[in-house]
Amino acid sequence: MPDQSPLRQLPAIHALLGEPAGQALIDLGGHDLAVEALRLELDNARADLLAGGGLGPAPGHNVLIEAARQRVDSWLAPTLRRVINATGVIIHTNLGRAPLADSALTAMETVGGGYSTLEFDIETGARGHRSTHAAALIQRLTGAEAAFVVNNNASATMLVLAVLAGPTPDHPAGRGVVVSRGQLVEIGGGYRMPDVMSASGARMVEVGTTNRTHLYDYERAINEDTAMLMRVHHSNYAIIGFTSQPALEDLIALGNERGIIVVDDIGSGALFDTTQFGLAPEPHVQDSIEHGIDVVMFSGDKLLGGPQAGIIVGKAEHIERVKRHPLARAVRPDKLALAALTATLTHYLRGDALIEIPVWRMISMPLGTIHETALRWAAELREAGLEADVMPGESTVGGGSLPGETLPTHLLAVTVASEEKAAEQLRALDVPIITRRIEGLILIDPRTVLPRDEDDLIAGLIDGLTS
Ligand SMILES: *Cc1c(COP(=O)(O)O)cnc(C)c1O
Repeated sequence: MPDQSPLRQLPAIHALLGEPAGQALIDLGGHDLAVEALRLELDNARADLLAGGGLGPAPGHNVLIEAARQRVDSWLAPTLRRVINATGVIIHTNLGRAPLADSALTAMETVGGGYSTLEFDIETGARGHRSTHAAALIQRLTGAEAAFVVNNNASATMLVLAVLAGPTPDHPAGRGVVVSRGQLVEIGGGYRMPDVMSASGARMVEVGTTNRTHLYDYERAINEDTAMLMRVHHSNYAIIGFTSQPALEDLIALGNERGIIVVDDIGSGALFDTTQFGLAPEPHVQDSIEHGIDVVMFSGDKLLGGPQAGIIVGKAEHIERVKRHPLARAVRPDKLALAALTATLTHYLRGDALIEIPVWRMISMPLGTIHETALRWAAELREAGLEADVMPGESTVGGGSLPGETLPTHLLAVTVASEEKAAEQLRALDVPIITRRIEGLILIDPRTVLPRDEDDLIAGLIDGLTS
């Protein structure tokens, strides 16, 4: 009788591994993961049998191995995956911000696949410093005396505040940083200017009101404890109507007159004039430098179109202090980011950034090209039996730049029974497609679909929306 029990029929792990499918499981995940997955499947099968009074048939070997294979697959599947961004949001924070230029990818491969001059002076054979790699390029581009690269702009801001206004033996509670109430932004991911300020050890001195701050507000707030006047880019929101902020020139003049450092957290870091593409003006790093600012910080992966990085530029005396601070070591960039950043910056110097840097290629993409692409895709989808059309729409820049600003575009619109269900099916594809949607329609903006994504996009739409 016990011999007939399905429990007894459950195989041993080593027996399963000895079968061809078991061998394939080891090839897939290695011995240890294969054993762990099979053990879990056998445990489940045993529990199921016991729950059924030990009567039901035991699962076959192939069923067990297949279930284990799915487990191993899910353990090994990367959660950080490629997706197609069809949303029309160019610098999409949730989808990885700026896609990199080809040259940046090549540089990362070259440097990351082997050894490099990261901290090695090739001429003298002595130890070098990683901060030299992008600095000369940034100085040339922005006109700054000195430049220093860190991990991101959040750490750049934190570091600059800690160094220039943080606690010292003379000022154990930190020194005052005067900032407008209209600029106390929250950027997302829990990054709030007042919190950054207090974490850095600087003391925030708020002036003005939400919509209006005047030069005299800054002036009146200055006392012997003041270390810095700070401007923070509005980033992801706009204040419209009865508003005012002093011009940066005036803030700088006030700082110079009173011997107080003026710092500009410029956020996106545009090196180009955005108005030539019909967008509102974004502050330029070069302008701040030209006006004699002490320090400017900006991101590497927003409008610059490079890798995640924080770039600090300004007067050499301040940048030197920033470099020497212990916190600088904790927020240093890695070699891959430096390789990609350097390659990205060279496009600005060569004058081919609009062609080579994806973010700028997307911003400057001619409307006619977008229209042609949308029409071509619509025809391909119709041929596959989908109901597809082209309609006018709007793209956005995103990434905490140009709030409320849009670029005209042409959208591929696919009619679906349920846009919720369709979006879900498109997210479940091997190469997920992320779209916008309105009632009964899935909307695809060709502006943010990279050339390399095109075939997968069309195949994915057909696959995901016809089934
Ligand atoms: C985006 C942004 C930051 C943070 O930059 P990260 O590179 O994302 O760390 C800080 N300040 C402003 C004004 C920004 O727009």
